[in-house]
Amino acid sequence: MKFDFRNIRFRTWLYFFTLMLGVLVMLWLMQIVLLSAYFKEMKINQVKDVSVIIEDSIKENRFSLKVQISAVQNNVCGLVYNSKGKLLYQVDALGLGCVLNSNAIGFTQKIENYTNLVDESSEGEFALTVTNSVIQQDMIIYGRKLDLPLGSYYIFLNSSLLPIDSTISILQQQFIYVTIIVFILFSIVSLIISSRLSKPIINLKKETIKLAHGDYDVHFESGEFTEFTELAETLNYTSGQLKKMDELRKDLIANVSHDIKTPLTMIKAYAEMIKDISGENKKKREEHLDVILDEVTHLDHLVQDMTQLSQFQSNALTLQVKNFNVVDLVNESLRLLNGLIQSERIKVQVYSPNEVIVVGDPLKIKQVLINFINNAIKFIGKDKQLIIQILCEPEVVRIEVIDHGIGIAEEDIAYIWDRYYKIDKHHHRNVAGTGLGLSIASAILKSHGYKYGVISELNQGSVFWFEMKYAKKPSHVL
Ligand code: ADP
Repeated sequence: MKFDFRNIRFRTWLYFFTLMLGVLVMLWLMQIVLLSAYFKEMKINQVKDVSVIIEDSIKENRFSLKVQISAVQNNVCGLVYNSKGKLLYQVDALGLGCVLNSNAIGFTQKIENYTNLVDESSEGEFALTVTNSVIQQDMIIYGRKLDLPLGSYYIFLNSSLLPIDSTISILQQQFIYVTIIVFILFSIVSLIISSRLSKPIINLKKETIKLAHGDYDVHFESGEFTEFTELAETLNYTSGQLKKMDELRKDLIANVSHDIKTPLTMIKAYAEMIKDISGENKKKREEHLDVILDEVTHLDHLVQDMTQLSQFQSNALTLQVKNFNVVDLVNESLRLLNGLIQSERIKVQVYSPNEVIVVGDPLKIKQVLINFINNAIKFIGKDKQLIIQILCEPEVVRIEVIDHGIGIAEEDIAYIWDRYYKIDKHHHRNVAGTGLGLSIASAILKSHGYKYGVISELNQGSVFWFEMKYAKKPSHVL
């Protein structure tokens, strides 16, 4: 199997490793490189301080005890020459370690070289690092020329860099241990963090694969991190919605085919009857043809409703928004349903002001009203009461269609606006409706941006309501 370099575990480890490397490099820089440079600078300054004390002694023409003390304090050995190359003064706090030891081979040559170095330098001084091969140590040599009225003088001083060398070697050793400990610690921490990070993702992935294969009964577990918990909640919601949609799709196919099959069977049966039996009998033939016509009309409505719904859902229908009197619209809808109201002996009560001007597409809102009223008549209670209220609220007009019929169970309420959702799962074909009325009403109100809903209780009745915006607020509304 090929190793995946983009794998979350490896990546987390890599980021931690890089971070660790960065920290170590910084430590190294601070502790070893900068410390060494800083120490050398400090040492040179100390040596320079000794040279200033020597300068004072030369000016006073007397080498004081102060020179000896500062040489010992700063671990310095030194020589003072006059311009003729005569050794005037010598101080030694280093003993064998002093590279300015006059007994060493090539000493005279060395002093000559240092003198030249001072003469050639523009500042009249120099500082260099040399290795004392006898004691195997790094040392600094500082040289300086003094031009005084009495004559010129050369001061050469030497000091050991030993403390820094040994400090650095201790630090280096420590650094190796620190590196090993940090490496182990970082690896453990990065492994723990990466596995904590990747575990919920791997779980989510497993469940998502199931979902992709059509298993909607998946459960995404919340993890320790907020983002994963939110993601899991979103995915749980999504899978719930997918499950609902899948059920609706199955319902839709079953119901549509049922609704189309029933009229088709009827049409076929009656057409055969006309052909075989009632062809000659005018009265019977007319009766049978009427049944066929009814069924064809129903099919036509079904197809129209489905087309309208799909147009709404694909946003292909545009609204013809106007200002109109919604009271007139309610009365007109009732007039259209008057035949049904009369035949069912419905007692209609309308509570409304005379005029409420609202904004919307009157034709579409009428469709909503007709659907609500039609349903109320279909599911009317024993009292045969149909109540319509137009309530002028401070910000909106609320229209309610009320019946005292069978009502809707709480668990069904959320679904009745879905296409083809039937509370009665046996799906008896409705003579008057196509089963798409509420989904069309919902699509119309949604496209207006208006709120709508239903308040209902089983065997008590239902209140189907929606709200509309005022075009002109009536004067009596606050
Ligand atoms: P249809 O009435 O043609 O079946 P709708 O989409 O208009 O289709 O209604 C969907 C379902 O909502 C109905 O089948 C019914 O179960 C329920 N319903 C609608 N209005 C009422 C009502 N006033 N009382 C009780 N149930 C209702």
